[in-house]
Amino acid sequence: MNRRQFLLSAVALGVSQNIHASGYGETAFGRQAPPQPAAPPQTRFEELRRGVGMFIGSGGTIGYLINGDGAVGVDSQFMNTAEICVAGLKQRAPKGIAMLINTHHHGDHTGGNKAYGVSKIVAHENCLKSHRATTEKTVDQQAYATATFKDTWSEKFGDETIEARYFGPGHTGGDAVIHFQRANVMHMGDLLFNRAHPNIDRAQGARVDNWIDVLEKVARRASKDTIFIAGHGKDNAVRNTHAEVQHFRNYLNTALEHARAGVKAGKSKEEVQKLDVLRGFEDTASLNARLSLGFVLGICYDEVTNTKP
Ligand SMILES: [Zn+2]
Repeated sequence: MNRRQFLLSAVALGVSQNIHASGYGETAFGRQAPPQPAAPPQTRFEELRRGVGMFIGSGGTIGYLINGDGAVGVDSQFMNTAEICVAGLKQRAPKGIAMLINTHHHGDHTGGNKAYGVSKIVAHENCLKSHRATTEKTVDQQAYATATFKDTWSEKFGDETIEARYFGPGHTGGDAVIHFQRANVMHMGDLLFNRAHPNIDRAQGARVDNWIDVLEKVARRASKDTIFIAGHGKDNAVRNTHAEVQHFRNYLNTALEHARAGVKAGKSKEEVQKLDVLRGFEDTASLNARLSLGFVLGICYDEVTNTKP
């Protein structure tokens, strides 16, 4: 892994949020990181279909729609790359940015919300709750959802229809799938980690068992040529098809089954976590030191044994 890949993956997962001097004073470990020369972040826009595209920078993939009515953003990474994304969207959409949608509350998806400068931010009600609960010390740096929903939210925007849908807990307790229906593109947020060990936020309501169901339900709602945007992926491979959704569903199922079998056999958490590779998923990457197979199996163990997060 070269330095740039390291920076991208570390920042992507919110572990070393101040590497890019992105306005976060502390690391996730609570200590000041040594000063780093500010490297300009590497970013790019990628068109997908019918005005829908994605912006790849540092943090969860941003989705966007641009048409005659202006632009809509999905997620915001951190302030430094959000500013680049917002400038690019405004350039491409003379009518400006009308609204922002958040797939879930994590800082690498909402940390740049303020950069959009929009008065309308849509999110699932649990996303807003978790966003508030986890940012009590940085309220002035946040822009919180202004419109929330329980099951679905839908709005026409120009000649596109945007739908946000909640399928129950998965990666957090408040993940929404954003479907640009005519373009047939679904932004999965962090419900989809493509060939990478996922973060799983039990403290904010995540459930691996229901996450598997969510992916099955989403797949049934999609059609053969739906494009799925992943929040994160190995080598930034975040433009995905049904095959990647199915692969990740099978990964979660295999990890959970391993934990269930271990618990049934009376194994300890450490014993369940001690597994070098998950058979059939040997090519799965760790996007940072914390997100390993052992981490995922530990979360599965805690879920199976109903251990409080
Ligand atoms: Zn996340």
